[in-house]
Amino acid sequence: MRRKIVAGNWKMNLDWDAANALFQSLKTIQNEQVEVIVFPSSLYLAAFSSGNNHSLKVGAQNAYPKNSGAYTGEIAFSQLKSIGVSHVLIGHSERRDYFSESNAFLKEKVDACLENGITPVFCCGESLPVREKNEETAFVTRQIEESLFHLSADEFKKCIIAYEPIWAIGTGLTATSEQAEQMHRDIRQYIAGKYGNETAEHISILYGGSCNEKNASELFSCPNVDGGLVGGASLKADSFTQIINAF
Ligand code: 13P
Repeated sequence: MRRKIVAGNWKMNLDWDAANALFQSLKTIQNEQVEVIVFPSSLYLAAFSSGNNHSLKVGAQNAYPKNSGAYTGEIAFSQLKSIGVSHVLIGHSERRDYFSESNAFLKEKVDACLENGITPVFCCGESLPVREKNEETAFVTRQIEESLFHLSADEFKKCIIAYEPIWAIGTGLTATSEQAEQMHRDIRQYIAGKYGNETAEHISILYGGSCNEKNASELFSCPNVDGGLVGGASLKADSFTQIINAF
C-alpha cells in the first residue's frame, strides 16, 4: 500500500502569529490514514520542529546542496536535519523559474537531501505552451530522469514525487482528474521502466495545482494520485483539514 500524503506549501506567506496559529490548529488533526506535512517559511522551522510529539511533519521549502561554508544566506540540509526537519521540497516550479534552478542543480540537492536522511519531495510539471504542444509527458519524465535517475532503487524509493502543472498553480485552473491520472500513470510507468514495478508501485505521487476542498476527493480517488501538494488552500485550517479528510 502506498502512503497517502497531504502536504501544505505555505510559500512566502503568513507572519509569525498567523503561522503559529495555523500550525497549532493543524497539530490537533487526527487522521491515521494520511501523512500530513507542512512546509512553512524556513524562519519558523526551528520553532515548529522542536519537541515534535505529534504526527504533523515539518518540511522546508528549499535548501542548498553543500553541508557548510561560505554560502551567505543559504541553509544546508544538514542544518535542517539538526533541527528535526523531515522533508524538503526540491524543484518547485517557482524555484526553477525565478531562481533558474536546473535539473542538474536539483540533482545535487536530491543527493544532499538523501545523504542527510531527509525525504525529498521532488516537484515536476510542465508549462501551458509545453502542454499545448502535447509534449507534457516527455517534459516531465525528462525532469525526473535528469534529477533522479542516477539514484539506486533503494534511494529512489525514499523520494516522493509531486506533479504540479505550472498552468494550474495559483490560477484556480485545476487539472481534470483525467489529466492528473494520465500524467501520474505515465510517471509511474516511466519509473517502472527504469526501476521495475515494485519500486514504481512504492512511490507516492502527489498532485499540486489549485487543489482545494472542493476538488480534492475527485483527484484523490484516481488510482495513481496518492495525495496533494497544496498551496493557497493550505493557508486556512478549515480548507486544509477538509482536503486531508477527502481521502
Ligand atoms: P496552489 O495550490 O496555490 O495552486 O499552489 C500549488 C503549489 O504550488 C504547491 O506547491
